[in-house]
Amino acid sequence: MIQPDTNAIPQPATSRAAVDFDLQRIVRPNIWALEPYSCARDEFKGMAAHVFLDANENPYHSPLNRYPDPLQEKLKAALAPLKGVRPTQTFLGNGSDEAIDLVYRIFCRPAQDNVVAIAPTYGMYKVCADVNDVEYRPVLLDENFQMDAHKLLARCDANTRVVWICSPNNPTGNNMQRAEVETVLRNFRSGVVVVDEAYSDFSAAEPLRLQLDRYPNLIVLNTLSKAWASAAIRLGMAFASEAIISLFNKTKYPYNVNALTQEQALSILSERDKVEQWVSQIKNERERLLPALYELPICRRLYPTDANFVLIKVTDADAIYRYLVERGIVVRNRNRVQLCENGLRITIGTPQENTELLSALRQYK
Ligand SMILES: *Cc1c(COP(=O)(O)O)cnc(C)c1O
Repeated sequence: MIQPDTNAIPQPATSRAAVDFDLQRIVRPNIWALEPYSCARDEFKGMAAHVFLDANENPYHSPLNRYPDPLQEKLKAALAPLKGVRPTQTFLGNGSDEAIDLVYRIFCRPAQDNVVAIAPTYGMYKVCADVNDVEYRPVLLDENFQMDAHKLLARCDANTRVVWICSPNNPTGNNMQRAEVETVLRNFRSGVVVVDEAYSDFSAAEPLRLQLDRYPNLIVLNTLSKAWASAAIRLGMAFASEAIISLFNKTKYPYNVNALTQEQALSILSERDKVEQWVSQIKNERERLLPALYELPICRRLYPTDANFVLIKVTDADAIYRYLVERGIVVRNRNRVQLCENGLRITIGTPQENTELLSALRQYK
């Protein structure tokens, strides 16, 4: 029998790939060569055992006495079809934050490599760059918060390992133009393109994760923290080629998603109808809130949004922020973020919460 070549990482869909891609060339050599920790639950994959004496667990206090499934296979089997990807194209982590950090640890050599990112955007890309001693190169969006692929590519060099794109973007709320994102995907040669789709459930645009087979250099992030209403359990996802997901799996901590989280995630996935109702309620409220915000005397500019929040520029963001806090209402003050001067980021709440916000803002003098 011919032994499978364990070095040849299978990529079933490369024939349809729109870009040439040599993964080994862009992965840190220590990660490429890494022999992962082999845990007891990795070695035993049999079906019929009932006496587990392999992991030094306490035999009492079932089921919490047992280590969880390191690859979360049951959860991935439920999640992947829902997301239109294969389980083998799925990484699950302790929030998206774990996936973001792993991207740095897998692809970026400290004090040597750099990453390019749209700006303004989600703050964790920069924090993780700093933690990993990787140069972070922000590229400003235009005045409508759109990205220019050529401006991003112009900031890339031979040591650029990641381009960070967030769509719908936080804190601006808008989708990046798909053609611009795909231009980056087709022309960025020295690393991976990460597209964070944390808010895609609130958007009418087709999720980019459905294009994974065309782009072997693409990583898409998702989370249970927003539309799936489960921020407390910390479950983030990365979707990418099997080859990239194998790198995530061998680099992560063995038991990175605890058993309680896996169980709760399965439970919310089984309540899909309820989640869809919440999302459509939030989208309805978005339709109601936007024109009402636009009518406010304090409104200087209101940006279109594809997410469950809206960025509004006001007469005096610091003062209005403090005024709302005094009334027990907390929004996100983005006044000190470049291009977001006098901007408040407001999450869409329940109808009652949104009404309370509007009436407070109407009374502001
Ligand atoms: C909220 C958010 C996330 C979610 O992060 P988790 O760690 O999964 O809670 C990811 N990306 C962006 C852009 C976000 O705004």
